[in-house]
Amino acid sequence: QIDGVSDVRVAMTSEKVNRRMIAIGSGKGGVGKSTVSTNIAIAMHRLGRKVGMVDADIYGPSQTRLLDCPETKPEVSDQKLIPMMTGAGIKLLSMGQLAKPGQAIAWRGPMAGKALAQLIDAQWGETSDLIVDLPPGTGDVQMSLMQHFKPDGAVIVSTPQDLALLDATRAINLFDQGKIPVLGLVENMSGYVCPHCGEVSDPFGAGGAEEAAKTMHLPFLGRVPLDMEIRKTSDAGTPIAAGDSPQAQAFMAIAQKIID
Ligand code: ADP
Repeated sequence: QIDGVSDVRVAMTSEKVNRRMIAIGSGKGGVGKSTVSTNIAIAMHRLGRKVGMVDADIYGPSQTRLLDCPETKPEVSDQKLIPMMTGAGIKLLSMGQLAKPGQAIAWRGPMAGKALAQLIDAQWGETSDLIVDLPPGTGDVQMSLMQHFKPDGAVIVSTPQDLALLDATRAINLFDQGKIPVLGLVENMSGYVCPHCGEVSDPFGAGGAEEAAKTMHLPFLGRVPLDMEIRKTSDAGTPIAAGDSPQAQAFMAIAQKIID
């Protein structure tokens, strides 16, 4: 717990604001959940929403890097954290700001739940949409989020191959059990355009998530290619959705579906 921040478990349900909370999850790590979360947040901001980002990925908080924000402890007012406004126009609070580098991964369930509560029950002000970038899988943070905060919807990110989809199905089942509507599936790393010859190949297959969405009667929100520019812009803290590329357009289309 941060100095001066109250134990918000009791207070946190009091502020029922007109704000949508959208959790972004994945069945396993490395499928691009955080990258997709950042770009969806930026696309929603471009579509006129006031977007906040909660980086709840205790195993690898990466939103401070993705949104180019210093990993320092946030200010506190009225015993609540004040989110940091990033250059991209997204307000951010991250597990990475609460823990010493490398420490968060050792957090046990109750501690992670407490940290999550502090991030969510913060001074979000006029934020209209709160995106929660979840840790991969189906663990304590997901349970805590569903029990105490009831997100309005969940988006699942998967790569196209069968194994990743199997994991994604588990994440979907978890949200179903918690009665959180699954807003749809995003297929990331779908098709690779060779930067040299332009040939398109499918290292992880393609279309698997769309098929899976159909089978599970869930909306398919769109596909994002495996693209060097997405990786480079993510590392540089200048997410691709802020630009004009076809990839930015793909994120705008996904964000529009989430807003609708
Ligand atoms: P997760 O949150 O699922 O663990 P990340 O968003 O951290 O995954 O992504 C893992 C790595 O893959 C990062 O280096 C990221 O830049 C890269 N990456 C994610 N999506 C894409 C993509 N569509 N094209 C290229 N690289 C990507």
